[in-house]
Amino acid sequence: MHHVLLLVTPDPAAARMLRGLVESMGDVAWEVASIDEARVALAQKGCCGVILDAAIDEEPGPRDRAHRTLSALAELRAKDARRNAAGSFVLPILLIAPEDESLDDSDARYAAGASAVVRKPLAARRELLARKIEAILGRAGREDHAACAVNAVNVPGRGVHLALTGARTRGRTGFRMNAKPGDVQNGHFVVLLRLALAHGRRRGGWSSRAQLGITRNPEIPSRLRAALRAFVSPGYEPLEADWSGSFRLSPEMTVEVDLDALEEHSLPVVRKIVKEERELRAKARKRAG
Ligand SMILES: [Zn+2]
Repeated sequence: MHHVLLLVTPDPAAARMLRGLVESMGDVAWEVASIDEARVALAQKGCCGVILDAAIDEEPGPRDRAHRTLSALAELRAKDARRNAAGSFVLPILLIAPEDESLDDSDARYAAGASAVVRKPLAARRELLARKIEAILGRAGREDHAACAVNAVNVPGRGVHLALTGARTRGRTGFRMNAKPGDVQNGHFVVLLRLALAHGRRRGGWSSRAQLGITRNPEIPSRLRAALRAFVSPGYEPLEADWSGSFRLSPEMTVEVDLDALEEHSLPVVRKIVKEERELRAKARKRAG
């Protein structure tokens, strides 16, 4: 199992770079663009660590930037300020400082709850970042994700299970969420199937509208989300969206797709998706030898 790291940055380039780095380490990245979203994500989903871009709070205001960074940091730290027996924070926060900021402020940053600080530019510091992330997770007692379960305070999404069973009634296709049966209209099911298969290939990976085939039906994700939300605890987001209009099923979810049953589906597009998935899997098996 992989760690889930919360990336808090309003900067798409930084988000892309950090997500690539986190994924190359075998972990999953959740991206949010504001402190408010980060607070909600921490409270509702929990995560193994936070990477906080100091650029998060750059709107002009009466206070200076360094001060705003510190208050954003302190606000997140207040969500989980527990320390382990060795004195390290249980929830590590890596602060990304602006390129031009002096390191004289580091004491204040650590006092406000940072576990480590790395200065921009990030592209030149990939290895340093990877080392720091590993180090702070290690100090937090999170050598692997199994250890994180012990630290979890509130992770309502954990244990949510989605099964695409292929059960059909007129114009609709069924699924089971946490063993409870539900269904959605066939057109929406096609999108759910694509999301589920993408989740199976790479948990936490994003699919664009084009990949999901919803360029002409922009309302489908919100309809699907509403259908899935009826099965989970309030506040848990089963279908996530990022700022570029891509979607994914929550990385916390486990997903199961009954390809045999779906092979018999009345919609040609479903049968085609199943066939392509089988081909992809056969190729992957071949590669794995
Ligand atoms: Zn973890």
